[in-house]
Amino acid sequence: MTKLTRRFSTTTHHILYAWLISALCIFSGLASAAQSTFDVEAVKAKYSIRDYVYTPLPERGYNYFKIAENAYFVHDDFENMVFFVTDDGVVVYDAKPDVTPYLLEVVKEVTDKPITHVIYSHHHRDHAEGMYLFPESAIKISNDETARFLKRANDPKRPMPDIVWKDSYVLETGGLRLEFNDLPENWHSQSDSIGYAPQQKILLATDTFHPDAAPWIHFGEATNPMFAFQLPQILLDTYDFNFMVTGHERIVATRAHLELYNELVQDMKNIVFEVAQSPAFHALMKETESRYADGAKHWEYKEMITNGAKMSAAKFIDRWAGRVRNVNLNMEENFQMMFMQLMILNP
Ligand SMILES: [Zn+2]
Repeated sequence: MTKLTRRFSTTTHHILYAWLISALCIFSGLASAAQSTFDVEAVKAKYSIRDYVYTPLPERGYNYFKIAENAYFVHDDFENMVFFVTDDGVVVYDAKPDVTPYLLEVVKEVTDKPITHVIYSHHHRDHAEGMYLFPESAIKISNDETARFLKRANDPKRPMPDIVWKDSYVLETGGLRLEFNDLPENWHSQSDSIGYAPQQKILLATDTFHPDAAPWIHFGEATNPMFAFQLPQILLDTYDFNFMVTGHERIVATRAHLELYNELVQDMKNIVFEVAQSPAFHALMKETESRYADGAKHWEYKEMITNGAKMSAAKFIDRWAGRVRNVNLNMEENFQMMFMQLMILNP
């Protein structure tokens, strides 16, 4: 390439680039104008607060509300699903057997468009066994790990997906864009993935945490606890979102909920280190050792972990009572898991 043509092509490149930027600005201006009619803060104030957890459900057994102009959050007593109304139809995320019948009623109530796509969040039965209730014509989508487990399960309620993606996938349909990603590791199941609706600023992150609550037992039945401990920070760093659909709870999670949960997990780590280094714990270990004869390592280990977890849980309850729900519920089990992971397996 000569100097001149190089300069010419650079200039052309710049013009094209400038055009692209202005086109993007106009487009995102339009998108934000469409979004601006939707009052995110009003939804948070009504449906992301602790009071809503204890508000009785309507007699029909479920409720629903919008979390973006074209996104609906449907929940029963404890579980939730979300769907998007596009120009061409309805896109559903997750396929819970308990919520799907309610969601199908809500879809009929808000639009006469057909359900075009349903996306598996992961293969677990409580999230996937509603898939058979959707119309045959709906395109079913999952990542490769989910498909592998569904094949093994051979469950008519969890039919095989029509589209199977690996690593990442973008669904663009009727003006809706959904971006899916397999993170480097799983956390809760062996087939987890994260979805993101950039226009609506909604994160689809099933079984990652419970908003306004201490962790579920065994860190949400984590298959990979070390990654489960890191995940809140990764999601906060990676995604810009207003709401987060986590699959359980009737309140919808917000960024503030995830920030608080992240603080909670970091504090749990601090507590484990504080306890492990404390003279009280060391004295207890010595005393434990002295009580068991040689060959009783199993008993010694169990008691050491149990003691560490008990001491950690007591500290945690002291610090977190009132800040989130369920501080008294699962913390000994959760600290058992964290204590083993941080102190013994993966220090
Ligand atoms: Zn699950």
